[in-house]
Amino acid sequence: MLDTDFFLRWMAATAAAVQREASRLTDLDAAIGDADHGSNMQRGFTAVTAVLEKDPPATPGAVLTLVGRQLISTVGGASGPLYGTLLRRTGKALGERPEVTPGQLAEAFGAGVAAVAQLGGAQGGDKTMLDALLPAVEALEVSFAAARDAAQAGALATVPLQARKGRASYLGARSIGHQDPGATSSALLVAALAEAAETSGGGDA
Ligand code: ADP
Ligand code: MG
Repeated sequence: MLDTDFFLRWMAATAAAVQREASRLTDLDAAIGDADHGSNMQRGFTAVTAVLEKDPPATPGAVLTLVGRQLISTVGGASGPLYGTLLRRTGKALGERPEVTPGQLAEAFGAGVAAVAQLGGAQGGDKTMLDALLPAVEALEVSFAAARDAAQAGALATVPLQARKGRASYLGARSIGHQDPGATSSALLVAALAEAAETSGGGDA
């Protein structure tokens, strides 16, 4: 079972990864966007870390709902509302259970990713965060480690794609040949999930 502490570890590992990779995310966004994805995510997860330390929520669902709200109000850009929706919707789907199974998390995360697709009007292959998130949802049925690998592969697979959504789409064919920044940060989020599972000693779904 995955308890509230597991979700706090997931978010802490995400914050650490965002901190570590911020300049890389910004470099990727400099190539096909406006060079702010790293600082956007860093600002968001700095606020997330502060609020989770000050007011740790009591349930897994409440952790993700609070993180989502915090991201919406601090990240800005296209990615703020999208990541906010992802985590809020996932949290809402988990409900008020004190502990959840990996299967319940997989299902809730699927609902969160579907909400991102709906909000942004994007689908797989559009060179967005969905190219990491959609394969992760599928692989979550196997294990957290499989989801991490699938998200990473999905982010790498955005390189040859032409962007059809977001700022990068304004570049048309010039967006080809660069890895999508949002898919890259989504792969960090999913890798942090696998990391949280490893530190709890279990982790396979
Ligand atoms: P902005 O583009 O406003 O500067 P960010 O740089 O923080 O915002 O985030 C850019 C990332 O957001 C892109 O790399 C892409 O993955 C994601 N993104 C942009 N538009 C969409 C969309 N409509 N659907 C899904 N993801 C999107
Ligand atoms: Mg940007």
